[in-house]
Amino acid sequence: MNIAFDNSFHSTMEGFYAPAEAAPPSAPRMLMFNHALAVRLGLDVAGTDNAELARLFSGAELPAGADPLALAYAGHQFGHFSPQLGDGRALLLGEVVAPDGARFDIQLKGSGPTAFSRNGDGKAAIGPVLREYLVSEAMAALGVPTTRSLAAVATGDRVQRERAHPGAVLTRVASSHIRVGTFQFFAAHFGAEHVVQLSDYAIRRHFPELADAPNPHLALLDRVIGLQCALIAHWAGVGFIHGVMNTDNVAISGETIDYGPCAFMDRFSVNTVFSSIDANGRYSYGRQPQIMHWNMARLAEALLPAIHAVDPAGVEGAKELVEGVPDRFRLAWFARMGAKLGLAKADQADSELIDSLFVELERHGVDFTGFFRALAMLLRGDGAPMDALLPQPDAMAPWIAGWWARLESEPVGPIERAAAMDAVNPLYIPRNHQVEAALAAAEAGDMAPWLRLLDVVQHPYVERPGWEEFAGPAPDDFGPYTTFCGT
Ligand code: AMP
Ligand code: MG
Repeated sequence: MNIAFDNSFHSTMEGFYAPAEAAPPSAPRMLMFNHALAVRLGLDVAGTDNAELARLFSGAELPAGADPLALAYAGHQFGHFSPQLGDGRALLLGEVVAPDGARFDIQLKGSGPTAFSRNGDGKAAIGPVLREYLVSEAMAALGVPTTRSLAAVATGDRVQRERAHPGAVLTRVASSHIRVGTFQFFAAHFGAEHVVQLSDYAIRRHFPELADAPNPHLALLDRVIGLQCALIAHWAGVGFIHGVMNTDNVAISGETIDYGPCAFMDRFSVNTVFSSIDANGRYSYGRQPQIMHWNMARLAEALLPAIHAVDPAGVEGAKELVEGVPDRFRLAWFARMGAKLGLAKADQADSELIDSLFVELERHGVDFTGFFRALAMLLRGDGAPMDALLPQPDAMAPWIAGWWARLESEPVGPIERAAAMDAVNPLYIPRNHQVEAALAAAEAGDMAPWLRLLDVVQHPYVERPGWEEFAGPAPDDFGPYTTFCGT
């Protein structure tokens, strides 16, 4: 197989990375290859068998044209600055340009130690690899900007965590791996010139139209804030909790990145946390917008040397942009919630309706995903799905009456509106109990439940006979659910 690499970071950003090599796996075996994504990237895999794909996407064989490297970055982890992180278990093979002109990184995750591994082994266990594959592909199917998964390959080696697990390598595809923490690294260690160089590269790669702005680095900050507001509103709209919103896990592209202890919420509760290491709830569901704001302040700080170099007055502009984050997030949130509730356009006047919904969902412990589908069924004259979700049939009657009244001012009829709601409100998400069961089976050698669940979450919106078990919350005896970082 020939991959037409076009490695812009390697060739133009020397000093921003360390060359690296993969540790050869002892017996690579393909677990899953994403043919649809390969087509999207323009990779020609016809005539390449699984054994060769497994070698290429595990580090056993270096594809021609690859310039493997590990990226340097820093980051605030749980609020504390770590000046040196970097790709400790990831290896950027190179970049490809898809048929539509979009540029993507192809990166191996779990392929062995790099210059940035510190005490880590650079490896990944099969469970977290299949979890990232499943959840990232689910997010893509939901329309949430995200890194993708091209392949999962078992290495044949054991990886020692709290116990030994089978090892695996994930091939991650991202529009780039530049993070807020990448800017922080070069701001902290090198200063303005490097920050300018990184910002110029990010602009060329992601937002070329910003190159002509009066202060391109300020324009970059503005754009990244806009993308983060939309992204975090999108997460909130599907009940997704990232779990480790450290600044090294925030991509400049606006894609969701670094699927660690993330999970989707079943019953709505604003303080939900799944991560075993998030004892204080810093990254709970309800705090994600505030943390995004905090992270954008860190990006602004890192960009300041570049912003100032173009125009000292830009510093004031950066401050205003950061102060404006909560208002911008609210706008993104109203847009998202408006669509979920079947409104042509929601705005400040709907804030009471939207905010009170979450109070009610929490009070009655309602399944978050199921609720919006049941709401659309009310428009079709069927109240049974809603009754089944609520502790008493009329538990949410006052809120539903308010929503109904609000719909009166909308031009669209109920059937059309219900269809529009179903197109944005998923029926199938990766339910935690099913994810855990599928991963346990896969670790024991049976991939069938994981493959089935992957198929389900890749088709989130249209109801299918036979998939009923995937549409409901975990049974009451499941949980409390805890997730772990340990890739
Ligand atoms: P994360 O919390 O997963 O975003 O990772 C934080 C940092 O730890 C990054 O620099 C990772 O590259 C590094 N890291 C995590 N796991 C390992 C590992 N098994 N080996 C080496 N580095 C790791
Ligand atoms: Mg990370």
